[in-house]
Amino acid sequence: MPSEQELPLPPGPEWETVCRVCGYDDGAEPFWEAGWPNEGAICPCCDNEPSMNDVSVMALRELRGYWLGLGAPWRSPGSRPKNWDILEQVKHIPAEWR
Ligand SMILES: [Zn+2]
Repeated sequence: MPSEQELPLPPGPEWETVCRVCGYDDGAEPFWEAGWPNEGAICPCCDNEPSMNDVSVMALRELRGYWLGLGAPWRSPGSRPKNWDILEQVKHIPAEWR
């Protein structure tokens, strides 16, 4: 019988709706669900697709830097709020992923 230590722990939170790359959060569709990246829940803002890469703060910084370097384009421009404030949005990036 395997000990508890041999059971793989899920790498993420039960429920997380904020994008770790850009801070976008619609409060509805989770990027992480039941401990795992919700692949297919592509961020309408920065175009990040949740994956196991998103448990590395260095990888997230690289993705973020690339996105910012392009001028912070929206994947779905129609989802962009008229008064969008990028500096306000990036404040929502959880502290551990900044
Ligand atoms: Zn994003």
